[in-house]
Amino acid sequence: METSVQSTSLATGLVCSHCKKHYDIHQLQTFSLCCNKPFLVEYDLSAAPQKEELKNRRQDMWRYQEFLPVFEPENIVTLGEGYTPTRFFETYENVKIYLKDESYNPSGSFKARGIGMAVSKAKEFGITHCIVPTAGNAGGALAVFCAKAGIKATVVMPSHTPAIFIQECELHGAEVILIDGLISDCAKKVAKIKLETNAFDISTLKEPYRIEGKKTMGYEIAEHFNWQLPDVIVYPTGGGTGLIGIWKAFKEMQQMGWIEGKLPRMVAVQSEACQPVVKAHASFTGKKNGYGLPAASVANGLAVPFPFGMDLMMEVLAESNGTAIAVSEQDIINTTKKAAREKGVLLAPEGAAVWKATQMLIDDNWIKPEEKALILNTGTGYKYLDNIIARQ
Ligand SMILES: *Cc1c(COP(=O)(O)O)cnc(C)c1O
Repeated sequence: METSVQSTSLATGLVCSHCKKHYDIHQLQTFSLCCNKPFLVEYDLSAAPQKEELKNRRQDMWRYQEFLPVFEPENIVTLGEGYTPTRFFETYENVKIYLKDESYNPSGSFKARGIGMAVSKAKEFGITHCIVPTAGNAGGALAVFCAKAGIKATVVMPSHTPAIFIQECELHGAEVILIDGLISDCAKKVAKIKLETNAFDISTLKEPYRIEGKKTMGYEIAEHFNWQLPDVIVYPTGGGTGLIGIWKAFKEMQQMGWIEGKLPRMVAVQSEACQPVVKAHASFTGKKNGYGLPAASVANGLAVPFPFGMDLMMEVLAESNGTAIAVSEQDIINTTKKAAREKGVLLAPEGAAVWKATQMLIDDNWIKPEEKALILNTGTGYKYLDNIIARQ
């Protein structure tokens, strides 16, 4: 059911995440040219509504429309993304673990939130062609939202990506380009195509809007936990938009007085095959870490060798007293199967990595008995069936 949202965006400007210089939000922007860093959207939160006003709103991410950067409601391109369920998952060593299940999103992953936002902004700016380098799910989401918006989509993926991700994009009418290499190699191809075509590049954090869509997870977590946040949030980290976005939402809600007290400790989970965030965090904390050359992972979404938002991720981990942890490829596969057999849940391998990491942190007493932990399953396991079944 779509009830109309009365008030419109409270966005006031863009700020360079490094030097805090201000930029015009009514111009199409990419990332800050002063410091070569991501932009963040700022809002006039003094004009925010009371949180009680959310109650009767539409049940998708646009219920938070004041805190999103689309100005004209008619530019919203939506397929009902967001407002996904949170439920109790298990008790492990006296820690209650809750699961927020993002597999319910259109295109089967939480990428729908960020890409839905970016495509809506593309529409607002009159853009007719979007392009993205992707490990799979961002491409699928772009294809879906561009189909809805009538915008051309070009998707550049590693050739080792499971066929279903490619077929999904093609079925929705996107142009698909396959590259031998990792997502960082796809990004180089995107840079070339951009010069030739003027396509709008929606690479992670190279535009200011996707993170605002991902941010809505933070608002939902607060709502679904009745404004009493869990102690720990465990998040599968690739480019980091979710980690940074959830934290941004918490800061906004704190500023508005919607939440009080200590914020959750944020945990970035990666695969041992590709763990730049774990490595960077370890070097800050002086820990040793066996890091090889970045390789592909069965959890495609985690294999981002050089995330553009690294500084922001380090800030979130430091400010929240969080940590970063890697899970082996074998454990990711085993845990995906275990969740299917023992919990009746077909997690994406990224979600399985998070469940495993949470148990490891509990075993290490980093998460303590009686604490509450929230894990995020960021996508549906159905797209990975071939990969999971093929690997023992
Ligand atoms: C993209 C992706 C991730 C990583 O998300 P970021 O917010 O970019 O760190 C995790 N899981 C899945 C299923 C993904 O598609």
